[in-house]
This record gives sequence, structure tokens and C-alpha cells, in this order.
Amino acid sequence: MKAIIVGGGIGGLTTALMLRARGIDCELYEQADTIRELGVGINTLTHAIRELTGLGLLDKLDAIAIRTDELHYLNRHGQEVWREKRGLGAGFDVPQFSIHRGRLQSVIHRAVEERLGTQAIHTGCKLGSFTQDEGGVTAYFFDRNNNHVRTARGDILIGADGIHSKVRHTLFPNEGGPIWNGLMLWRGARDWPTFLTGNSMIVAGGLHAKVVIYPIAEGESASSRLTNWAVLVKTGEGGSLPPRREDWSRVGKREEPHHRDAGILGISVLRSRSPAVLDQRSRHVARRRRASDVSGRLQRRFAGDPRCPRARRCAGPCRASASGADGL
Ligand SMILES: Cc1cc2nc3c(=O)[nH]c(=O)nc-3n(C[C@H](O)[C@H](O)[C@H](O)COP(=O)(O)OP(=O)(O)OC[C@H]3O[C@@H](n4cnc5c(N)ncnc54)[C@H](O)[C@@H]3O)c2cc1C
Repeated sequence: MKAIIVGGGIGGLTTALMLRARGIDCELYEQADTIRELGVGINTLTHAIRELTGLGLLDKLDAIAIRTDELHYLNRHGQEVWREKRGLGAGFDVPQFSIHRGRLQSVIHRAVEERLGTQAIHTGCKLGSFTQDEGGVTAYFFDRNNNHVRTARGDILIGADGIHSKVRHTLFPNEGGPIWNGLMLWRGARDWPTFLTGNSMIVAGGLHAKVVIYPIAEGESASSRLTNWAVLVKTGEGGSLPPRREDWSRVGKREEPHHRDAGILGISVLRSRSPAVLDQRSRHVARRRRASDVSGRLQRRFAGDPRCPRARRCAGPCRASASGADGL
């Protein structure tokens, strides 16, 4: 049996390893010209890590990821709503990892190259169409200029081509595109002082605006981590059309996250100190801009420092002020 996998993201690459482990031949086709380390933080929960552990990748992931050990939910004032252990501490047999999405993809990509050979991965091949007959599937691939570059024949075709899947659209042409829930997300990663256990994850805010912060790798110093931040703001009605198609690599604008709750910590930090830009660029620009004045204040709040003005006003424990009202 031979499988054609369309898409070289985390799903497609992992599928290739899984098929290989079961003795099924496969070839993978990716539209991008190279498989690059794109993206920022991604949280891989224990059910995903168990699968990757089964593929023998635990040690490699452990070397580049952070074992997330606790999750704090805070309201928009930074008061704790809920706290729970994660991963091994919660009783699972494998850890939960917070990891850079590109590095995770690289680990899996390298394993595919080692186990299947580089010839099994075809980049610069965008699926244009496919047909089925009694004997199998024929798929037609094109380059970025829409020139036909390859025809593949297999027993089955697996669509791992992301949220705007061509495979899905071909099979279910009347289904329409994904339904937007009205939330817009901005995210980035930067070197940032460790907070709480050093492996903690924070979700602060409510249904209309929230910030998610968690470390994804060792930092530039022993007391810092490469830290992922994501800001979500409800900018539209669920089911309405999004203002534009989402893009994991588009540089954001500081004035974009406007909402009455936009004073929450992350957005305030973005607005006042560092540009809401993405990926490597964000880290480099942000570093040049100096994080120390922001992080000093942020640290005090994570530590529940009495100098934090909110600590005096909060009814509950002030673990992290999620408000930028005092000029963060
Ligand atoms: C560039 C990028 C950056 C991301 N960054 C983050 C992040 O920072 N944090 C986070 O939580 N999630 C991120 N994601 C999403 C996350 O990786 C996925 O939601 C999740 O891993 C599921 O993976 P997937 O393999 O199903 O889809 P994806 O990761 O979206 O991969 C789909 C792959 O299929 C390819 N493809 C699409 N159409 C075709 C076609 N017609 N022919 C051939 N190939 C095709 C795409 O180029 C892509 O490589 C990112 C996704 C991408 C593509």
C-alpha cells in the first residue's frame, strides 16, 4: 500500500512517521518551497506527547521544550479563578510541553528525513486536483506559478493541508469555508524573566479579551525564558465574515487590538512598549526596545508584591495584574 500525504505541517509529517512505523509506504507533498521553522508557541498536551513519545521523539522534544507544570486562570484584574497542575504533576505518564511550533516541526521533519529518506518529501508541490478510480488515487501538483510539476499515484490520499484544505473542499465542495468565531489573535515570543514556577502558563481575561502567556524554551540568561504571548480580542460576531483571511506570518499593527478590555496586561504591554509584531522579527525588535522597565513591574505583580497598586485593591490574591490601567 502507498499513501500520498498532502501537507508538510505537524499533522502531515507525524502521519508520515506513523505510517512508516506500521510498514506503510508514503510520500509527502508540501506547497511551500522549503519546510521552515515558522510560528511561535504551541502547547502540546499529553495525548499528543504520548503519540510523539511512541514515535521515539520524547528526548528530542524534552531538549528544546518547557515541561508545563501548572496552569493559572485569572480574571481580567489578575485575580485567580482557578489553578491546576499539568502534565506529570497532574498524574499523566508523559509531560505537557510548551514549545516553539517551528522547532517542534523541525524535530518531526528531521525524523521523517532519517526514517523515510529525503526523497519522500516533495516541496514546492501544491495540490491542484485529484481523481479516484478503482485502483487508487491520482494527484496533480503545481508550483507557485501554477505550472504542473508532478503527478503522483497512490492507493490512498490523506489531506493534512490545514484549515483551508483543498482536499476537504474537493470532497465537500458545498460545505463552505471555516466558520469564524469572531476572535482575532496576535502573538509573538520574546526573552522574558521567569515567573511563578518558571514552567507556568497563564490565561487571563474573559470571553471578550484575554492574554495567554507561557515560556517555550530556555532564555538568554538563567533567569529568563523565551516566552510566548498571545492576545485574543473579540472583534466580530461569531459566524460573521472575518475582516481578512488569517495569516500566521503577517506583521500586526499596534492599534489593531482595540476593545474596552484592551487594557489587559498583554495588550497594554504591546501598546506602550513593544510592537505587536510576529515571529523572529518581534523578538529582535522587542529586544532592542529593552524589556527591563516593563518586566520589572510585571514581575512584581506575578510575585504579588505589595508595591503593586492592585494588590491593595484586589479582593483575592494578586498573582498577576491583568490591568494596564496604571500605565504599564
Ligand atoms: C506557517 C504556520 C505557522 C503556525 N504557527 C502557529 C503558532 O505559532 N502557534 C500555534 O498554536 N499554531 C500555529 N500554526 C497552526 C498549527 O501548526 C496547526 O493548527 C496544527 O499544528 C495542526 O497542523 P496541521 O498539520 O493540521 O496544519 P498546518 O500546520 O496548517 O499545516 C498544513 C500544511 O499544509 C500545507 N498545504 C496547504 N495547502 C496545501 C496544498 N494545496 N498542497 C500542498 N500543501 C498544502 C501548508 O503549507 C502547511 O505546511 C501555524 C501553522 C502554520 C502553517
